[in-house]
Amino acid sequence: MNYILAIDQGTTSTRAIIFDENRRVVKVAQKELHNSFPKPTYVEQDANEIWLSTLSVIQELFYDGKINPFDVKGIGISNQRETTIMWDAKTGQPVYNAIVWQSRQSSAIVDRYKAKGYEELIKKKTGLILDPYFSCTKIVWLYENIEGLKEKDVLFGTVDTWLLWKLTGGKVHATDVTNASRTGLMNIHTMEWDDELLAIFDIPRKILPEIKETADDYGEVLEYYFFSNPCKIYSLVGDQQAALFGQACFKKGESKNTYGTGGFLLVNTGNEVVESKHGLLSTVAWKIDGQTTYALEGSIFVSGSLIQWLRDGLRIIEKAEDSEKIALSVEDNGGVVIVPAFVGMGAPYWNENAKGLIYGLTRGSDYRHIVRAALEAMAYQVKDLLLAIEEDIDCEIKTLKVDGGASVNKFLLQFQSDILQIPVLRNNMKESTALGAATLAGLKANVYQKEDLLAEDVLMFNPQLEKAISDHLYKQWLTALNKCLN
Ligand code: ADP
Repeated sequence: MNYILAIDQGTTSTRAIIFDENRRVVKVAQKELHNSFPKPTYVEQDANEIWLSTLSVIQELFYDGKINPFDVKGIGISNQRETTIMWDAKTGQPVYNAIVWQSRQSSAIVDRYKAKGYEELIKKKTGLILDPYFSCTKIVWLYENIEGLKEKDVLFGTVDTWLLWKLTGGKVHATDVTNASRTGLMNIHTMEWDDELLAIFDIPRKILPEIKETADDYGEVLEYYFFSNPCKIYSLVGDQQAALFGQACFKKGESKNTYGTGGFLLVNTGNEVVESKHGLLSTVAWKIDGQTTYALEGSIFVSGSLIQWLRDGLRIIEKAEDSEKIALSVEDNGGVVIVPAFVGMGAPYWNENAKGLIYGLTRGSDYRHIVRAALEAMAYQVKDLLLAIEEDIDCEIKTLKVDGGASVNKFLLQFQSDILQIPVLRNNMKESTALGAATLAGLKANVYQKEDLLAEDVLMFNPQLEKAISDHLYKQWLTALNKCLN
């Protein structure tokens, strides 16, 4: 037997999944993670807990002796991106908590750099906006808040790098281009750490990991951690890029949307960096065999969390899955539109001050229309982004692949297809992120061949709504949206 192990280190949990030669899931182990919120805008995790959870899920896969660890021919790691960890180069002890991507604790630092006029330069070099989201100002925050850090022998890493360093017993300090492209320190045109940016943020080059390809030789896991098998680590990849790869979006214009707590739409833009005119991020999709593929990325702040709000805030549903039945119990939205601008609106609008809205209520409206409108809002936001991306890449998007927790909702996917007027495809293998990491590692390990990657088992949703009705509904959304943006 030839197996590949994927480690999917996410914000809320760490998972380890064994895939077989046909890229089918053989076994899964999962462990939840804690988040801490030391101050209102801070989101942190214990870096050692991230590591120990990883070790623990690996052990869980093999402890009953049913799977032979020596059958595992390679390891791929996908991870929450941007989360910033710094540790003592000798002891491996983290100097502070992991600062999670969601954390806004470096916002005052960002404001300082904005005032100095660095936004344009950063956009040009990294494809990113100047925002606390990305690692660079989180590193600055660490230097400014931990006494004596400048004099210490420390290493920096995003979660991929931290886990790699730990798994290899401190031997390998490296990252891949997808993770490096989210730090705000890598030049996406050269794929190297950018000296000018390092000088601007006053970050010493020696703390940074080596940047490697997405599928590469990352060294061996310590035998002790892997039941005596010095298994090779063959891939590191950021979670959204892993999902794009797992969904086989290999050609320019191929796209995937993840409906999780938030939403992430990524479109493959081929071998060139596309600069968005709509505030989307240009990012690295992967680098394999010397070839770099880029992507445009748009994030939706509120996606599946709108359904959580129906459950926990409005209390009009008991469970997230009830939303499907309730939405289908009415013929249409009855004119009700929800704009979920709970934390402003992201791309393509970038309006920090927008507030949410339930629009179009009449005496005939009831909770069912609101539930339906919530699911519809998830789909409208994807359409807003897709239209922006089509303009940016000057190319029509012909299908949309989907994944994430809310992609089990068939009403949502049918409505998504109706409103986009293109087919929406859901892979029946729902673990796109882990699948992407496993596939990248499996290609490098020669367990998978390129031809295998196209065999897909998908559920397809085709547009069923007339175009005129679809257009009318989208206009309703734009009307409501404009009320909350203005
Ligand atoms: P994340 O990885 O961002 O934590 P997941 O991909 O696990 O999130 O997706 C969880 C989200 O999906 C939750 O916000 C939840 O409200 C939503 N969700 C789960 N099941 C359904 C469903 N049947 N219909 C609509 N939304 C759902």
